[in-house]
Amino acid sequence: MTFDLNGRVALITGGNGGIALGMAKGLAGAGASVAIAGRDKAKAETALAALRSLGGKAEFVEIDVVQEESCRRGVAQVAERFGRLDILVNNAGTTVRKPPEQLTADEWRMVLDTNLTGAFLCSQAAYPHMRDAGGGKIICIGSMMSVFASSYAAPYSASKGGIVQLARSLAVAWAKDKIQVNSILPGWIDTDLTRQARVQVPGLNERVLARTPAQRWGLPDDFAGIAVFLASSASDFVTGTAIPVDGGYSVAV
Ligand code: NDP
Repeated sequence: MTFDLNGRVALITGGNGGIALGMAKGLAGAGASVAIAGRDKAKAETALAALRSLGGKAEFVEIDVVQEESCRRGVAQVAERFGRLDILVNNAGTTVRKPPEQLTADEWRMVLDTNLTGAFLCSQAAYPHMRDAGGGKIICIGSMMSVFASSYAAPYSASKGGIVQLARSLAVAWAKDKIQVNSILPGWIDTDLTRQARVQVPGLNERVLARTPAQRWGLPDDFAGIAVFLASSASDFVTGTAIPVDGGYSVAV
């Protein structure tokens, strides 16, 4: 049963909706117990109900990924409450859409702290649990902006390029502990994050549809399969890679 996740425990940061919920549903459907980590418990209730309806255990854990102590405490809580931690998905993310000359240093730091430093801190906190259990899986969520650039998302692009390099570095460092670390690079996915962008960036919807060979925006459920693959023993010899899930966006001219 290569894709079987029965008995495994997954922690997903920023898991109250969007792409995270699509991944969480995949993991729960394959048998994993899932901890949804975020800042707002009330906001996570719908996600928890959806996950529990699949038959698995699902709980909320409070983590604000920009706070070092919160990352360490939240990861420890998951290991204690569930008895182990096998899978970490570094999904929490945010952006500030402005030309670079208008960004404040605080805005820059907020995006880098959320998208990149938070992933480092949660991975570091998860490491001893995975090492002591004889292995684990870390999945980092990058972006098309890990590869391409945009004039209105300098900190976001920097953080998403950085997270792919972070994943590669952790993959090399922790391969000896049988911990695989990979990135997923989503294309344009219909979530709260991009619904805002469609309002703020004129013509974005049309440009995305014209450039994406699949001729549609991605959906959170498009991430269930890749999450199960990267979280399961099916991917035990796959590490340090970055896999686009983008309807062909990154290969089209
Ligand atoms: P959402 O806005 O639905 O998800 C982002 C999540 O991150 C929210 O749950 C949010 O929680 C959480 N979050 C933000 N800041 C923090 C924090 N400090 N601590 C804990 N959680 C936090 O958007 P998506 O599902 O689209 O985004 C998920 C990931 O996918 C992000 O990393 C994003 O950059 C990436 N991505 C998305 C793409 C898309 O097209 N949608 C494309 C490429 C990458 P809260 O609700 O509390 O703010």
